[in-house]
Parts: sequence; C-alpha cells; structure tokens
Amino acid sequence: MLKIEDLTVSYDGKTLAIDNINTEIKQGEFVGIIGSSGSGKSTLLKSINLLVKPLSGKVYIDDVDITKLNNSQLRNIRRQIGFVFQDYNLIEKSTVIDNVLIGRLGYKSSLKSFFGLFNDEDYESASNALKQVGLSKKMFERAEELSGGQKQRVAIAKTLCQEPKIILADEPVSSLDIATSQSIMDYFKVINDEKNITIMINLHDVNLAKKYCHRIIALKNGKILYDGEVGDLRDEL
Ligand code: ADP
Ligand code: ADP
Repeated sequence: MLKIEDLTVSYDGKTLAIDNINTEIKQGEFVGIIGSSGSGKSTLLKSINLLVKPLSGKVYIDDVDITKLNNSQLRNIRRQIGFVFQDYNLIEKSTVIDNVLIGRLGYKSSLKSFFGLFNDEDYESASNALKQVGLSKKMFERAEELSGGQKQRVAIAKTLCQEPKIILADEPVSSLDIATSQSIMDYFKVINDEKNITIMINLHDVNLAKKYCHRIIALKNGKILYDGEVGDLRDEL
C-alpha cells in the first residue's frame, strides 16, 4: 500500500535528513521506527503525507506517486492518512467531540459543530471513535480538562473518525509515563488488529517497539540501519 523509492529529504539543501531510503509497507502492518534523536524518524513520517517535501524520490500510496499531485489531489490523499503528534495537537478550549469531528470534517468543523451543524452520521462516527478509545463519557468535556494520556486517546479517535488507511504517529508516547505509554500502545494494537489499519509509529523507547510492533525500521543519520521482523533485531539496536 505504501512504497518509498530513493527518498532524500534536506531542510537546508546541503545536509540530508533522509538519505536515499527505500522500503515497502503492506496494508495492516504495524511498523515501529526507532533511532536516536535526529536520525530522521519524524522527517520520514512527515514526508509520507508530504508535510515535508522531498528533495528527490517517490512516495507511492496505492500505486499513486503522491509527490506528483497538486494541492487538491494531495488533500484527498491526506484524508486517508491519520497523523498523531507527540503534543496531541488538539484545540484545548474545544470539546472532545468537536476535536474528534475535525478528523472527519476538517478544521472548519469547529465552527460547524458550534452551531450544531454536524449530522447524525458525523455524530455516530465520532462517538464510535471515542468508544474505541474508551472515552465516551468525556465527549462533552473540554480537551484542556483531560490528562495527557486521555488527550492522546482523543487524538487517536480524531484520526479514526477520518476513516484512514494508515495512521502515522510521531513519538505519540514520548510525553507520557511508561504505564500510560503502554495503554496508548494497547489502543494502537487493537486498532491495527480489528480494523487492519496500517500503523507506522516513531518510538524513542526500543523496548516498546519490540513489544508491540511486528516490524522495525531503525534509522541512523537518515539511512536505514535495519528493516525487518522484531525477532531478528540485534540487541545493540
Ligand atoms: P528524529 O525524529 O529522529 O529526531 P528528525 O527527522 O526530527 O529526527 O531530524 C532529522 C534531521 O533533520 C536532524 O538533523 C534535524 O536537525 C533536521 N531537521 C528536522 N526538522 C528540521 C527543520 N524543521 N529544519 C531544519 N532541520 C530540521
Ligand atoms: P480542509 O481544510 O480541506 O477541510 P484540513 O486542512 O482540515 O482540510 O485537513 C485535510 C487533511 O490534511 C486532514 O485529513 C489531515 O489529515 C491533514 N492535515 C491537516 N493539517 C495537518 C497537520 N498540521 N499535520 C498533519 N496532517 C494534517
């Protein structure tokens, strides 16, 4: 479903944040991306939805090279890609359900739902997404009232409400304690198992990656150091 070919990314036109990466991900895979700070994990994920534009190379999603698309075509592709950030990226003053609806309706929805302009189908989708992450009871609370772990669950529900094919998560548990991190990883695992959504997740903690992911991509200086099953991973990675 995702194929990355000769991908090279540079922010300054000189140093390479991603240095000629090739890989292929199948629908339903749960891939952990590991590597020290600055190794290119975040840049790799951001180049998959073109938040960062590559210097060269191709990114295919279902056989379409998305580096060739215009802005409106790209917007359609991005609807199929959920993105979860380390800092949750919620509108703190808005309710949980409004934040979740943004995944489905775009940012204009905050205004729409303020006037009650979402329909039954939207509501159904948002409340199912919240049920999936165990937050049905918090639907009408404001995001700012939630704990970090709960906020990240809202962010996950927001991507689910988008009905994505793939979820990209950029260090989603790095701000959370270990118990909360594991509970967030459990939600990702259930979503991956039940919905067959492809998940690519950047993790600082190699042990979490080994515990939850089927496949590991290890980066160093923008290059792939390892790409394969967890079982074959050497201890030093
Ligand atoms: P990681 O997610 O593994 O910490 P990043 O993808 O954030 O790595 O960074 C890869 C390289 O790109 C690093 O050398 C980093 O300094 C550089 N970099 C990342 N984001 C930017 C940016 N917005 N502008 C300039 N350089 C950046
Ligand atoms: P529109 O304005 O057309 O309603 P949005 O701008 O809200 O659409 O978002 C379109 C898609 O782009 C969303 O589905 C979302 O996945 C993605 N997107 C928007 N903003 C970001 C962002 N800051 N980071 C990552 N993805 C984003």
